[in-house]
Amino acid sequence: MKVHNFNAGPSVLPNEVLYKASKALIDFDGTGMSILEIGHRTEPFIAVMEEARSLAKELMQLEDDYEILYLQGGATTQFMQVPMNLLDSGDTAAYIDTGVWSNKAIKEAKLFGYVDVIASSKETNYNHIPRQFTVPQQAKYLHITTNNTIYGTQWQSTPETDVPLIADMSSDILSRQMDFNKYALIYAGAQKNMGAAGTTMVAVRKSILGKITRKIPSILDYRLHIENASMLNTPPVFAVYISMLTLRWLKGQGGLAAIEKLNNKKAALLYDEIDHNPLFRGNVVKEDRSKMNVTFTIDKPELEEEFLKFCKKEDIVGIKGHRLSGGFRASLYNALPIESVEVMVEAMKFFSLKKA
Ligand SMILES: *Cc1c(COP(=O)(O)O)cnc(C)c1O
Repeated sequence: MKVHNFNAGPSVLPNEVLYKASKALIDFDGTGMSILEIGHRTEPFIAVMEEARSLAKELMQLEDDYEILYLQGGATTQFMQVPMNLLDSGDTAAYIDTGVWSNKAIKEAKLFGYVDVIASSKETNYNHIPRQFTVPQQAKYLHITTNNTIYGTQWQSTPETDVPLIADMSSDILSRQMDFNKYALIYAGAQKNMGAAGTTMVAVRKSILGKITRKIPSILDYRLHIENASMLNTPPVFAVYISMLTLRWLKGQGGLAAIEKLNNKKAALLYDEIDHNPLFRGNVVKEDRSKMNVTFTIDKPELEEEFLKFCKKEDIVGIKGHRLSGGFRASLYNALPIESVEVMVEAMKFFSLKKA
């Protein structure tokens, strides 16, 4: 362990994954070539892609109707690819606005149809998840952001709706058990909980596709990616490989049941300190607190810089808050060891006593 890495993304990866990836960079599985040097349509790489696809499906316990894709362009490309594949120009899509990322998704969807923002927590600076909303019957889908990376809120349950549910799960994918089959389409940039920047996982129910008349460019058409087993063109081979290793690691840890337990413990440890330490306070309403991105502030703003410096000395990195929400943000992704949270809590206790 080098430092205590609380970065929001790209972020901490399991040591085991980094070690294996570094070896594959020189000689991939005894091929005498780097993973970067082999053709993507060769047997060894096809095996990597297929394992990455099947592990994701297995970990989420998805039904047969789902296909897993590893695409490029980040979650940001999904903001437009989703509406492009699911909306005709006269159609309506419902969105719930829980922060910066939801807003970006909303902006892109407006290019393809009518967007009905049925709830928003903007008025209170996104400090909670709105619960009062009605999904219009004619909506082609409802889009939510399950975890709000910047503000530190998270949906603790899946909203009930009759229309296909779509979720940006970039910052809490595979961090907890949930009924993933309730979501018709899930997307997540890999760089937070499932690997390196450069690929985005999409899990899609095939039956929702092919229902519109718009002509879709090939590279943006989910159906073509499915037909080509996620190799319509050259995939981001190294990023997919790292995702595969990360999913293998996760399965080895005991899968979602085990990681959820650990994630709950990590989050409880830090929130407990925030709630009891007189110097710090949480930013969002308790029942909507994120277990992945913990946001908090210091009661004496003049001490903010000093606390960051103190943390740096303790090898705690990546806790400066996002410029939009200020204060601090500690990201507790799957690969962050609980020891790092313990060190963080100790630092908060010590700093607070020193300043009392
Ligand atoms: C990081 C993040 C994104 C942006 O992902 P890119 O891969 O940079 O496009 C989108 N949504 C959420 C919830 C995120 O946390």
